[in-house]
Formats: sequence, structure tokens, C-alpha cells
Amino acid sequence: MTKRRKTIGGNWKMNLDRKGSIALAEKLASEADTESLDLCIYPALPWLDGVAGVLGGAASPIRLGAQNFYGKSNGSFTGEISLEMLRDIDCQMVLVGHSERRHKLGEPDVLVNQKLLTALDGGFDVTLCIGETLKQREADQTDAVNTAQLCYGLAGVSSQQLAQVTIAYEPVWAIGTGESATPEDAASAHAAIRRYMEFAYGAEAAAAIRIQYGGSVKPDNAADFFAQEDIDGALVGGASLEAEDFLQIIRLAASADGN
Ligand code: PEP
Repeated sequence: MTKRRKTIGGNWKMNLDRKGSIALAEKLASEADTESLDLCIYPALPWLDGVAGVLGGAASPIRLGAQNFYGKSNGSFTGEISLEMLRDIDCQMVLVGHSERRHKLGEPDVLVNQKLLTALDGGFDVTLCIGETLKQREADQTDAVNTAQLCYGLAGVSSQQLAQVTIAYEPVWAIGTGESATPEDAASAHAAIRRYMEFAYGAEAAAAIRIQYGGSVKPDNAADFFAQEDIDGALVGGASLEAEDFLQIIRLAASADGN
């Protein structure tokens, strides 16, 4: 089994108020064991600065991530925030291609790719989310959809820049629905993703890149995902809003085989 450090993300989406976000960040900062894994939290935008204050800057063992950004450094872009602004508050990671931005807000592959390239150029680490809809799954198109989203999403990304990228496989039908993929189905999709990465970037890069599973990960199913060879952690939505659930998922990742 190739040893890759597990990586866990907590995507808080448009949830929690300021007080709740700070309290959750404080609890994670004092109780999450990050020695053997990477942990990043993505609070809602207005609370990023407050959470940054809790985490204590760029050297924090818990990384601060942004759910969204705009790919220009400054200027007349009403309502948007730039990577420069995020860097100013020690934000180090960004999500791109999340299914809610693709499917609810209409972000196309070309924008996903532009954002990813801008973030990499700006020195950010990026989690690229990909995944099929239920209709695509039922038509047996899971691997084809993932491959296409990787191909478009990573266009123009060099082998060196790939070290800044994590992939999150998140079947759209499993996000926030309580219905997760089976660990075996997820493992099969992850293996296909890694095969594509080998084709595109070579065996060494494919073995090194980390692929998170996302879609209704909970304390009672997380261990089964982490036991799969090609699953290197999880991007967690709903369960990352509950301190005890998220801490338990982090513990399970830390104690999984391969760590
Ligand atoms: C997500 O939003 O990335 C996600 C996986 O959500 P949930 O865990 O709630 O399905």
C-alpha cells in the first residue's frame, strides 16, 4: 500500500454564525490530533478572519481554507474577494469545482480551470472537487465524467504544481443527502481517478496525489472509506459542523491503516 498522509477537510458551507464558527474552530484547535494528518477548515466567508485569529496564523496545524474566491487581484468586481485578501488573513487553501458551485451556481469547467490555475499561481493549495450526478451514475458514466472533469480542471497544470493539488471525489447525489457511496464503489472511482492521473502525469505523481472522498461521510462510515487503498481522507460537509462528529472522523483518519 502506498503511504500517503491522510487529508481531511471540513466544508462549513453557508452554515454557522460567528459565535458558532469561532467556538467550533477553538474546539478543533484544542482537540484535533493533526500530528499524522492534514486538516483544513473552510468557514463561511464573513467568519474567515475571526477563525484565522483562533487558528493563529500560517504556522497553525489546522489550515484555513476559502470556499470561494475571484481570480483577479483587485478592482471593480462587486461582491467578490481576491486571493490577495485571503492571503492577508493567512488563508492557504481554496476549494474549486465543488458540485454546489458547478450545479447550483452554474460554474462551468472553464471557470473551474481558470480559478484553479490562478490559485496555484498565487501559491495556494487547491482542492479540486469532481463527481458525477445520479443520472450520470445510472448511465454508467462515473469514470468518464470524473476523467473529463479532471482533464478540463487540470488543463495547464504542470507536474510541479500538482504537488499543490488535492482531488476530492464527491458524487453529487451523495452530497448532503445522507446517502453515501459504498466504500467499494468509491474505491473503484478513486482507482480510476488515479489511473487517469498516471496517464496524464506519470506513475510517481499519480502515486503521490491525495484523493479525498466526499458525500455524507459520518463517524459511522468514515473508517470503511479510510480503509480503501486509494482513499486518502475525506471532504466533510454536514458532519464537520458537529464538533464531536468531526473530531471522531479525524481520529478515525489518524488511526487508519497506512498512517
Ligand atoms: C461537501 O459539501 O463537500 C460534502 C461532502 O457534504 P456532506 O458531507 O454534507 O455530504
